[in-house]
Amino acid sequence: MDDRLQQELTNWLEFYRELGIEGFYLGGTGTPACAGRTLRSAAPLPPTRNGGLARTALSGGAPPSPATKPALTEGKPATKPALTETKPVVSPTAPLPPRAGASQTAVVAAPIRPPAPSLSLFETPPPKPSGPETLEQIRADLGDCQRCKLAGGRKTIVFGEGNPHAELVFVGEGPGADEDEQGRPFVGRAGQLLNRMIQTIDMKREEVYICNVVKCRPPGNRTPEKDEIETCSPFLFRQLEAMKPRLICCLGAPAVRTVLGIREGITKIHGHFYDFATSKALATVHPAYVLRSPGEEKILREDFEKIREFLKGK
Ligand code: URA
Repeated sequence: MDDRLQQELTNWLEFYRELGIEGFYLGGTGTPACAGRTLRSAAPLPPTRNGGLARTALSGGAPPSPATKPALTEGKPATKPALTETKPVVSPTAPLPPRAGASQTAVVAAPIRPPAPSLSLFETPPPKPSGPETLEQIRADLGDCQRCKLAGGRKTIVFGEGNPHAELVFVGEGPGADEDEQGRPFVGRAGQLLNRMIQTIDMKREEVYICNVVKCRPPGNRTPEKDEIETCSPFLFRQLEAMKPRLICCLGAPAVRTVLGIREGITKIHGHFYDFATSKALATVHPAYVLRSPGEEKILREDFEKIREFLKGK
């Protein structure tokens, strides 16, 4: 038998041994009569839909977990992004088990050599740890984002800032000129009003987390467009998933549409609590709107009072 065939046979036997299947003998002759046939039948399996190999049994029997979506139980569900990526957990270089119907009459003859290093099921890379991502990981994945046309006009990506364990997260629309300059959300006039509102509920800005539907400034402070929101909001959803705050406060229509999928006017739906995954969410008017229409500050105050009441209850 040539060396390559010998090695392949050894690999197969080691593979079966690791599965706990041993003792394939053919009449005690020690002749690997069927080895070649069996090996030829073990053609690579077709890739699975997720790009891995069809090796459920080897990888523990469980298919990759489906992407999770935050469930919205009031209002229209928003189309949410996949939050997790699955990777095949078995090295594609490890030997494959025979397909159904392949010959099982492999034999053992020559003494088994120590397993080739690539064979061990235990040497496959460890699966990616499951569980929530951290904000740092999400920021790293965002990188120097060029995924949408806003990238060309921005100075700084405004990822979000605040307490990563915040009970309360604010979601605004998108950075303006000041935010773009400083790389921080809500630092302009609207931000100053937001800070004052946060104080009215006896909280400090550092205690909450503040972010936006899009992370780059739309030109001329226009409303972010559909494609920009679709490209950027998966990062927002990952941030929300990572933090799992008790309450998400959507500031203004784009945040309400993106997070809650609600298209009704804010003046109708503000102050109501909705379910968003494991969090509650409430909509209110954007501070910039209140700056333009000071008479509407009442709405903001009332809604912040509801936020305070909500956070008081455990
Ligand atoms: N308006 C927003 O929606 N977000 C900011 O960060 C600043 C102003």
